[in-house]
Amino acid sequence: MGRKYYCDYCDKRLPSGSNHRKSHNRGSQHINNKLLYYLRFQDPVEILINERLKTSCIKWKQSNSCLFGNNCKFSHRSNYELFQLIEQAKQNLNNQNNFDVHRWIQRKLSNESILPESLVS
Ligand SMILES: [Zn+2]
Ligand SMILES: [Zn+2]
Repeated sequence: MGRKYYCDYCDKRLPSGSNHRKSHNRGSQHINNKLLYYLRFQDPVEILINERLKTSCIKWKQSNSCLFGNNCKFSHRSNYELFQLIEQAKQNLNNQNNFDVHRWIQRKLSNESILPESLVS
């Protein structure tokens, strides 16, 4: 039906239909806006630590939509977004060594190679 989708991150209404939304969510502008949105409210290190405790949301992965939105207890962030956050975190951290970003990346990536998507779904 004609329910329009509103993107909080971009402050913009999108035409209804999941194809519009999907291509919008993949756009680099949207990804940047989403990242900025999070950085405005949260320290990237905090985000990373939170994300580290979460597993990927299967619903989000499959359909790029999830009823729980930002309150979902699973992670909605793609690897690309996480890498962007990590870059930001590295800049902010500079001289602090209390959080090992590289080790975290490696853990994240090796977790995913142990669990291929075919096994998850
Ligand atoms: Zn958007
Ligand atoms: Zn979800």
